[in-house]
Amino acid sequence: MLDLPVRLLLIEDNPLHRRLIQQLLTADPQLQCEVEAVERLADGLARLARNDVDLVLLDLVLPDSQELETLLRVRLAAPQVPVVILTSLDDVKLAARAVESGAYDYLVKSNLKSTALSRSIRYTLSRARARGGEWDSPMFRLAQQQFLKAAQYMDLDDNIRQRLLFPQRTQVVSFPFFRDDRSQVETVFGYRVQHVLSMGPTKGGIRYHQDVDLGEVAALAMWMTWKCALMKLPFGGAKGGVRVDPTSLSKRELQRLTRRYTAEIIDIIGPDRDIPAPDMGTDEQVMAWLMDTYSQQVGHAVPAVVTGKPVVLGGSLGRKEATGRGLVYLIKASAEHLGLDLSRASAVVQGFGNVGSYTARFLAEAGVKLVGVSDVSTGLFNPNGLSVDALLAHVAEHRVLAGFPDAEAISNQELLELDCDVLALAALQNQVTVENADRLKCRLLAEGANGPTMLEADDILFERGIFVLPDILGNAGGVTVSYFEWVQGIQNLTWTLEEINARLQTILLDAFHRTLKRAGDNHIDMRTAALIEGVSRVTEAKLLRGVFP
Ligand code: GLU
Repeated sequence: MLDLPVRLLLIEDNPLHRRLIQQLLTADPQLQCEVEAVERLADGLARLARNDVDLVLLDLVLPDSQELETLLRVRLAAPQVPVVILTSLDDVKLAARAVESGAYDYLVKSNLKSTALSRSIRYTLSRARARGGEWDSPMFRLAQQQFLKAAQYMDLDDNIRQRLLFPQRTQVVSFPFFRDDRSQVETVFGYRVQHVLSMGPTKGGIRYHQDVDLGEVAALAMWMTWKCALMKLPFGGAKGGVRVDPTSLSKRELQRLTRRYTAEIIDIIGPDRDIPAPDMGTDEQVMAWLMDTYSQQVGHAVPAVVTGKPVVLGGSLGRKEATGRGLVYLIKASAEHLGLDLSRASAVVQGFGNVGSYTARFLAEAGVKLVGVSDVSTGLFNPNGLSVDALLAHVAEHRVLAGFPDAEAISNQELLELDCDVLALAALQNQVTVENADRLKCRLLAEGANGPTMLEADDILFERGIFVLPDILGNAGGVTVSYFEWVQGIQNLTWTLEEINARLQTILLDAFHRTLKRAGDNHIDMRTAALIEGVSRVTEAKLLRGVFP
């Protein structure tokens, strides 16, 4: 609740809309505000120059300024002042783009209610207070935007929409670890974010990377929620991360860092609470240390506190390769849908870590010709095909792909734009953007990484008819076998690899066909369809549980 009157600037040229908004604003007693209304952008900018506006309600189409230009000029005049877009139903896409460009929210004028308007204002003001802090990252905005787009299509209840836009729990820690020379103590930042706690324990990996921040971890946690719900797994989404470059650490340093990070988040994890797993920069060994640290604290072995651990410690058969295997199951199903003969198809795989290398291997087993591959060190191209075994042998010896003899070295951009049937993304976020989406030459874009495609690029891919296996579907094989690992752990029994792969395939294909059907029925892209599948399930569960107290 806000105690002071909020100073609102309404920039809207339609007199009827202006009056409507002003009436709605005064109708809700929860919002104490003073409103000043202007009809031209120039007057709005002059008003902003006086520096006493708390929030701008902005119509993007004005007599003296149009579309995104309007927002950009407001942001330039008053970068700190949050903006909420007022849009007509026809311009929702434009409004969504405005949110991607820094506006906080958008409201559709035609069916606006006073409670929704007042809530959006109150919520925006509290988000603005968090901004400038670490929430504000491009990845978190992308995750929120994708969610808002899906919410708009499904006409999501506004109570639920506001509730799901931010994670429920966030732990930010800073902690020290000794470097190997024992004279230096390094202090790093770590995070654990739990997005939705209504579905069961929370689930999601831990990422070690030098660019990790709260916004990134929160985005990944939100995606985990939709992913688990899409797969019908009994988990909410979570994610963890430490801002550190793991390649700069020795194995002993990595162990000390992992144990201390585990100790810092120990109160919020556990087999019934929140179950970590590997993600970028972490692996089975890191999970083993995490499990050991947790078990030492409680006094007995607790294998089910993490998944993706070594098989000898209670890890599951098939977990290590599950993300790549799952992606290839889905590529096969997509190829069938598209009428693409995989035994004559070509593929490019971006990234050659766990997900990329297994994806390449399973694609090769399906008879696909691998013409391009990359890692941090280089891109490689060979129109006659690259041998996955030879690539793996090279990496085993040299750690990276650079220097691989039987290929031409190319840049990351060139790799993404190679002519191929299947482009599998298994590296970082933010790869397919408005800049290059027009130039992609694949028929099928398969996302093994989280968040590799920006929102506006999605529209371009959809218009171009490129079939997308969105991340929350494409890479869900990992968390699905993690779920199997957790189930085996709490029941103290083990499944065979055949059993695991068969169950994995059934779950993934079920989610694939539900998503495909929804996309076809509603004429929407696969990502939005997958999100709607996930969001609907979470919504149903939340409504059934109700609000405490
Ligand atoms: N980090 C993986 C993901 O993004 C796996 C998470 C898990 O297995 O819990 O889906």
